[in-house]
Amino acid sequence: MALTNEQYDQILREYEIRRRDNEIKSAENRAGLEEGFPKLKELEDRLSRLYISGLMKDLDGEGRNAEETEKEAAAIKKEIHDMLDEQGFSEGDLEPICDCYDCHDTGFIIGEDGIKTKCHCFKARELELLYENSHLGEQVKRCNFDNVSYEGREGEDLESLKRAVSKAKDFAENFGKDFRNIIFYGTVGTGKSFLSYCISDVLLKSHRSVIYMSANDLFDRIGDISFRMNEIGERNAAYRELTDCDLLVIDDLGTELTNAFTESELFALLNGRLLNRRSTIISTNLDLSDIRDRYSDRVFSRLAGDYEFVKLVGKDFRFIRRENA
Ligand SMILES: [Zn+2]
Repeated sequence: MALTNEQYDQILREYEIRRRDNEIKSAENRAGLEEGFPKLKELEDRLSRLYISGLMKDLDGEGRNAEETEKEAAAIKKEIHDMLDEQGFSEGDLEPICDCYDCHDTGFIIGEDGIKTKCHCFKARELELLYENSHLGEQVKRCNFDNVSYEGREGEDLESLKRAVSKAKDFAENFGKDFRNIIFYGTVGTGKSFLSYCISDVLLKSHRSVIYMSANDLFDRIGDISFRMNEIGERNAAYRELTDCDLLVIDDLGTELTNAFTESELFALLNGRLLNRRSTIISTNLDLSDIRDRYSDRVFSRLAGDYEFVKLVGKDFRFIRRENA
C-alpha cells in the first residue's frame, strides 16, 4: 500500500469535513429555494405521498393502477420543472450539493459486482498527497524519461549515460516485480539526480510512495525524530515514513557530516529497508574507494551486496547546457 495509515485516515477525514460542509450548504440552498418557490414543498410532498400510497396498495395486495400513478407523478414533476425553469433553475438545484457526484463525497464507488473501489477523486487526492510528501517539489514534474538530453556528450560519456538511462528505466518499469536498489555514482552534474527524479515520477504516477531527500536533510530529519519529538507515537510514525515508503532516494550521499550517530543511523535505515524489501536509490559524487573509506564495513557490505552500482561520467551537463545556451 502506497499511503501510510496516517495519510489514509487524513483523506477519510477530509471527506468527512467535505460532506459536513456540503450538508450545511445544501440545507442553506434548500431553504433559499423553498423561500423563493413557496409551492415547491407542497408539490414535493404530493409526489412522495403518491408514491407511498402506491407502495402501500402493493403491500396490502390491493393492487394499483401504476399507469395512473405515473401519469399523475409526471404532471407534478412537470409543474416543478416549469416553475424552476421559469426562474433559471433546474431539478439539479434541488439535489444535495457534492464535490464529487460520482461517489457523493464518500471517496468510494460500489460497482455492479458489489465491489468497492476508490473513486477517481480519491485517487487524485492520494497522488497529490504522495507528491506533497515526497519532498520532490515541482521539479520532478519536469523530469521524465522523454526529456533526457544526450546533447554535448560523446564517447564514453555518452555510453555511460545511455547505460544509466536504460538501467533507470528498467528499474522503474519493473518496480514491485523484483526487489532492487541502485547507487548512481560519478562526477557532479552527470545526471544522477535527474535519473532519480525520472524514476520517482514514474513511481508516484503509479501511486507508489516516494521520499526524496538530500543526505543532509535526511540526517537532520532523523536527528529531529530522535531528539526533538517527544511523543513516541509521533516519533514512530515519522520514522516509519522513512523505513516503509516504497522508494527512498538519498541524494548526494557523502555531503553530510559523518559521525557515529549518522553512521549508525545510515546502517539501521539501509538495513531495515533491505529486510523490509523496500527499494532505495542513492546518488553520490563519491567513487567506490571513497565510499569504502568513508563508511563502516557493515554499511559498505550492505551497499556492495544489495545495490547495483551505476556509474555516470563526463562533463557537468548543467555546464554543457549553459555553454550551448
Ligand atoms: Zn469521487
